[in-house]
Amino acid sequence: MDQYQVTDPEGFRLADHDPAATSGIDGKAEGRAEIERLTARLSELHERFYADGRYGLLVVLQGMDTSGKGGAIRKAFEGLDPIGVHVAAFKAPTDAELAHDFLWRIHAHAPAAGQIAIFDRSHYEDVLIVRVHGLVPEERWRARYEHIHGFEAMLADEGTVVRKFFLHISSDEQARRLRARLEDRTKHWKFRLADLAERKRWDDYQAAYEEAIRRTATPEAPWTVVPADHKWHRDLVICRTIVDTLEGLDLRYPEPEEDLSGVVVE
Ligand code: AMP
Ligand code: MG
Repeated sequence: MDQYQVTDPEGFRLADHDPAATSGIDGKAEGRAEIERLTARLSELHERFYADGRYGLLVVLQGMDTSGKGGAIRKAFEGLDPIGVHVAAFKAPTDAELAHDFLWRIHAHAPAAGQIAIFDRSHYEDVLIVRVHGLVPEERWRARYEHIHGFEAMLADEGTVVRKFFLHISSDEQARRLRARLEDRTKHWKFRLADLAERKRWDDYQAAYEEAIRRTATPEAPWTVVPADHKWHRDLVICRTIVDTLEGLDLRYPEPEEDLSGVVVE
């Protein structure tokens, strides 16, 4: 799964990444079986991560409308114990949020030690939709790449592991998913006419994502470009990446604070 991690930011081109890739896995059934194994593993690792209490984990999920951020939260992270997880969804900023710097509302949701925070959208919107719609002058959003880099480096230095995922879908797949939403009345609440206006700016968004990823992919806060046209593959790549990340941490159960040797429960 390392193949999807961006390790050469300078040479990064979104067009080189196939949204329909399946890692050579033979179809959905095999993929889902592997996710089940990984989910069981994630569950064990999460308990150890929580008990260990030395690290936080910040998971950033970004992607176009219908790319499956919500679905990934439900499926790829099924193995997590809700006690140790916080999900934060970032919508258009409120007036109070807009009156502050762009990281103000974000930092408040960064994970405490021992906790996992999952961001459904994030501070990256401040160089994505903000750029595409010109919501602030260019010199202001351009400066944000460096601010984001500094912010994430600070989190990493202070013990938070940062992993960022771009859920990469094709324009055709988005069209299919938007049509499916229109055809299903129970999905209408998710459908906004503004989504169609955003869709018209597909190329602008792809360019904004490409530069954001290029400018902020670092060894301590790497981006994974997740081929997400197939939902099972999206979940598999994310789950596997988180399992690999936690396995790399040398997690241990802490020693008890008191000497329990010879203690008997009557
Ligand atoms: P959804 O994820 O479908 O609920 O939509 C949330 C909307 O909020 C998306 O259109 C985002 O682009 C928008 N949004 C999130 N963060 C920001 C931001 N910092 N500035 C402007 N719009 C934002
Ligand atoms: Mg939406």
